[in-house]
Amino acid sequence: MTEKIFQIAIDGPAGSGKSTIAKAVAERLCIDYIDTGAMYRAFACKIKNSGIDMYDEAALEKLLDETDIDFSKGDTLLDGVKVNDIIRTPEISMLASKCSALGPVRKKLVALQQKMGESKSVIMDGRDIGTVVFPKAPFKFFLVATPEERAARRLKELIEKGEKTTLEEVLADIKQRDLQDTTRKITPLKKAEDAREIDTTSLSIEEVTGIVIEEVKKHGYCQTV
Ligand code: C5P
Repeated sequence: MTEKIFQIAIDGPAGSGKSTIAKAVAERLCIDYIDTGAMYRAFACKIKNSGIDMYDEAALEKLLDETDIDFSKGDTLLDGVKVNDIIRTPEISMLASKCSALGPVRKKLVALQQKMGESKSVIMDGRDIGTVVFPKAPFKFFLVATPEERAARRLKELIEKGEKTTLEEVLADIKQRDLQDTTRKITPLKKAEDAREIDTTSLSIEEVTGIVIEEVKKHGYCQTV
């Protein structure tokens, strides 16, 4: 029996648990995980390296034309080069949030994401997956958690990577990105009307993963579960 192609959209603010949950679900369901935040981060890196003024539309369009972003075996590739770690710094987080508000950037990356998810089942996390990238996805989740819990999770990740920062700094960054992501003019972060909201503040990774898998199982989409 051939299995139906489906998309699982996981949206929510920074630190709400999207990537952790999406990775775990992808593994359990044997489907691809696409981290769209990594794509905005990779392009932010390209902007930084190129030294262009991102508000110069002609320069931005040219840079977008010259940019290739892809994933291979869990690695994020910018023009064929692995950028897994350098895209995770606080500086790139902020630049990604800024450049993701620009129309030409969203247009190119959304088209790329739609292409990545049209021929195979995927779980994709981001800010606009359920609203823009795959508005017809059969499964949509919107993860939330208190800013303090999200900052504590992000701090742990950054410390593990050797970054020197404090809870206060990370919390301020998260609040600033929340503001930018929810108030930008083009497709701001917003829950799709038909998305199921999960507050992950006091839930374990296993509990949230379980909720998502249960939903897919209930609808008989994936026989491998
Ligand atoms: O999810 P992550 O924190 O890695 O995303 C980095 C930034 O990229 C976000 O703050 C957001 O501004 C942007 N983003 C977006 N749309 C997506 C994914 C990420 O605007 N689908």
